[in-house]
Parts: sequence; C-alpha cells; structure tokens
Amino acid sequence: MTLAQPPHRKAKALRPGAPRPAKELCSECGFCDTYYIHYVKEACAFLNQQFPALEQQTHGRRRDLDAEHEVYFGVHQAMVAARKQQPIEGAQWTGIVSTIAIEMLTQGQVEGVVCVQNTESDRFQPKPVLATTPEEILAARVNKPTLSPNLSVLEQVEQSGLKRLLVIGVGCQIQALRAVEQKLGLEKLYVLGTPCVDNVSRAGLQKFLETTSRSPETVVHYEFMQDFRVHFKHSDGSTETVPFFGLKTNQLKDVFAPSCMSCFDYVNGLADLVVGYMGAPFGWQWIVVRNGKGQEMLDLVMDQLETQPVMSQGDRRQAVQQSIPAYDKGVTLPLWAAKLMGVLIERLGPKGLEYARFSIDSHFTRNYLYVKRNYPEKLDAHVPEFAKRIVGQYKLPE
Ligand code: FAD
Ligand code: SF4
Repeated sequence: MTLAQPPHRKAKALRPGAPRPAKELCSECGFCDTYYIHYVKEACAFLNQQFPALEQQTHGRRRDLDAEHEVYFGVHQAMVAARKQQPIEGAQWTGIVSTIAIEMLTQGQVEGVVCVQNTESDRFQPKPVLATTPEEILAARVNKPTLSPNLSVLEQVEQSGLKRLLVIGVGCQIQALRAVEQKLGLEKLYVLGTPCVDNVSRAGLQKFLETTSRSPETVVHYEFMQDFRVHFKHSDGSTETVPFFGLKTNQLKDVFAPSCMSCFDYVNGLADLVVGYMGAPFGWQWIVVRNGKGQEMLDLVMDQLETQPVMSQGDRRQAVQQSIPAYDKGVTLPLWAAKLMGVLIERLGPKGLEYARFSIDSHFTRNYLYVKRNYPEKLDAHVPEFAKRIVGQYKLPE
C-alpha cells in the first residue's frame, strides 16, 4: 500500500528565469523554486496580504491597533538594545543573529538552520543553505544586500527528514513560510527575522554602489545607519560615510526592487524574534521578542550580551512630512548642504524608537504612493490596516 503524498509533492517548481506568479512584484523569495508553489496564491506576500490571520496563527493574537507601539512594531512582549560582548568578526553588526543560530543548533533545540551564504565568486550573490554545522552558520554571517531566494531550500528540508528547524529571513520570505508552516512536516519551527527595506536585485546593487560609493568594487559591507549616513566598509579596512540627504535620489529611484517599494512588513511581523538596529542607539542592535519561542532563543545568548533598555527621543513627524515631496521629486542636495543637514538632524533629530518610527513612516508613505500609482487595483487589499493608519498621519501628494 502506498501512502498518499501531500498535494504539493506533485507540483513542479518553476524553471529559473520563468515568470513568477507575482510578476514584477516578485521578491525572488525562493518559494516558487520548490514544489510548494502549489500554494503560491495563498502564500505569496505580494498576491495575498494576510497579516491578521498569520499573526493570530503565529503569536496567538493580532497586533493591537489601538496601541501605537504595536501599530509600528507588531505583536511583541519585550524589546531591548543589545550588543555582543565579543562581536563576531565580519558579522553585519555584532553577530547576535549568527550566535543565536549556533546556540540553537549546538544546544539541540534545532537540527538545521536555513540561512544564506554567498557564492564563491561574488561576495554579494546570495546562496541559501540548510546549515547543519556551526561553521556553515558562521559562513552565512553578514547581509547579502540583495533579493535572496532563501525559501528555495524548503524541499531539501522536507527531504532531509529534519523535524526541528530554525529559519532566518526577511519579511516577505517569512510571510510565505508561515502560510505553509503546517505543510512542512515539522515538529517545531523557530523563526529569527531581521527587519528589511529597500532591497535590490544584484544589478540594482551594482548601480547603487556605483552611484554612491567612491570605490564600488572594494565595498565588502554597508548599512544605512541611525546617524543618517550610509556607512561603507572597504576591503582595505577603511570606512566611507555618505549622508542620506546627499544620495542621488533621482538616479536611485528605480534601483529598489518593485517588491520592496510595495512592502509594508519592514519589522518582520511574523518572526518569533527580530534582530535589527533601527530602534537602538547608534552602535547597538535592536531586539524585538514577539512570543515565547522568541524569548527562548534570546535566553540562549543573554549571558553573551551587553544590554540596555530601549529609548526614544525627538519628534519625527515634521522631518517625515518634509521628506515626502523631496523624495517624490527626486531632489538631491549639494554635498555640503547634505552634510550640514546630516549633522543637524543627527544632533536634533529622532533617536532610538523614534528613529525607527521615522524610518517606517518615510518608507510606508513612499511605498503607499508607489502602490497607489502603479497598482491602484491592489491598494486596498494589499496595504495592511496598521500601515494605512501610519500613512494616514501625513499629507500625501496625488
Ligand atoms: P549576522 O550575524 O551577520 O547574520 C546575518 C544573517 O542575515 C545571516 O544569518 C544570513 O543568513 C541573513 N541574511 C543575510 N542576507 C540576507 C538576505 N538578503 N535575506 C535574508 N536573510 C539574509 N535592520 C534594521 O534595523 N533596519 C533596516 O533597514 C534593515 N535592513 C536590512 C536589509 C537586509 C536586506 C537585511 C538582510 C537586513 C537588514 N537589517 C535591517 C538587519 C541588520 O542589517 C542586521 O542583519 C541585523 O541587525 C543582524 O545583524 P547581526 O550582526 O546579528 O547578523
Ligand atoms: Fe513566488 Fe516568492 Fe516571487 Fe511570490 S515573491 S511569486 S512566492 S518567488
């Protein structure tokens, strides 16, 4: 007697390069590279926005739309600013994500970790893996600041017979993952997320580096930091900073992937634990514990961290309102003015959680306009209620 196969096993992954169901909005999350494509209409973050249902399934409740902190940061039970006492060399920040993943594996909470290394020939070309050793997790440290098909290893997970899994990923990947969580045959799934915004294709990344850095070919790492500057690290160890307000927005307008221009899951609302930086003081990482599994993961590394409570300072609203038409028209300030603006806003501008709100407001208003202009038929269903509330605080151009 043969056992009935789950329906997805009869489906066929799409060929590389074949059009994706979400068309130009596809974020190349990797889901359609697997037989789980069978569920794409329900699962894809760009075809079916379903935050309330997935929050309920994941956290046991929806975000409280009457509480500002949940409207902005999603369901959570704790937040803290932290950094590793001994940072991991070559990590994006201090390596909290890699450290948690390694502890989860070595202490037996999981048998494998979905993470993303880079290809041998290209530091920025993502190569998703199912890591089963600490060395493989460590090799995945540091951001690949490009769209990454992390979910392409889902078939491998099912075939490997692993029952306890940790997935590291960004919002669009995690939304699709949560939608099929019950079909994966796992006993336990942990999700360690990072915030994500303004991602790009590999070609888009090249354009960004060429328009922004003095030496695009030697960049090994970059981040948009809380001091309103992009920090580039070069292969000779030197750093370069470029003020946000000096970015060539007119040339960069089309660089970000359409998926990221229409995303409202900056803070990865469906992860169990989120590790970013934007709600923490400069130099610190920002940790959002969404549920019990998230707390379990954080507890494993607490003795390796230095922590401080999250703080919030300043008022973002005017800066956000003023940046909306400037971004819309692609205004680029001369370098001296951009530097001056950067210094002023760093001294007087929003800090901590208020900086995070500044960044969320700026991106959500921009993305709302993008969806409204380019996909008006999708606007109402695609934009979640929490994002509508955030955008509703501002006056937008037509
Ligand atoms: P590390 O220990 O260096 O580990 C990094 C982990 O990220 C690795 O496990 C790897 O598997 C995973 N990863 C790398 N690239 C990708 C990718 N393309 N897709 C999915 N997973 C990936 N934080 C903010 O607060 N604000 C932001 O705007 C923001 N934007 C981000 C954009 C991208 C594309 C990414 C990947 C992350 C972003 N982050 C953002 C998170 C932040 O940059 C750090 O990744 C996070 O703080 C963890 O740092 P770490 O030193 O602990 O990570
Ligand atoms: Fe498929 Fe993911 Fe692209 Fe949606 S975003 S079409 S699920 S690969």
